Amino acid sequence: MSVTGSCHCGAVKFEMREPTDFAINCNCSLCRRLGSIWIYSKIGNVTITGDEGATIRYTHGDETLAVHSCKKCGCTTHWEGLNPEEDDRMAVNIRMSDPDVMENYHIRRFDGADTWKFLD
Ligand SMILES: [Zn+2]
Repeated sequence: MSVTGSCHCGAVKFEMREPTDFAINCNCSLCRRLGSIWIYSKIGNVTITGDEGATIRYTHGDETLAVHSCKKCGCTTHWEGLNPEEDDRMAVNIRMSDPDVMENYHIRRFDGADTWKFLD
C-alpha cells in the first residue's frame, strides 16, 4: 500500500510506501500549531517530488528533525530525521492527502509536549 499527497499549489508531492497502520496527532509545540497528522515509514520508502529549494526547512530544539513546508503555498508536507543512523523514519502529513485517507486511518494522540507517550 502507498499513500500520496501534495501541498495546495502542487509544487511538493509525496508518496509513502509501507506506512504505519495508524496516524499520529501530536501535541508538541510545533505540531499543535501546524495541525499536522503524521504517518511514518523508513526514509527509503518515501519519495518527495518537487524542485530543489521548493520547501522551507524548519528545525527547532535539539534539531533531531526538519519539518518541510512549501515555499509557495505554506502547506507542511513532511519531516525528515536529521540523524538517520539513529532514527531512519520519515513522516508525511496526511492532511495533504485525499480526505478519504485520513478518514480511513486510526488517529492516535501522542503527547509530544510532555511524556513522549501515546495517550490512548
Ligand atoms: Zn505548495
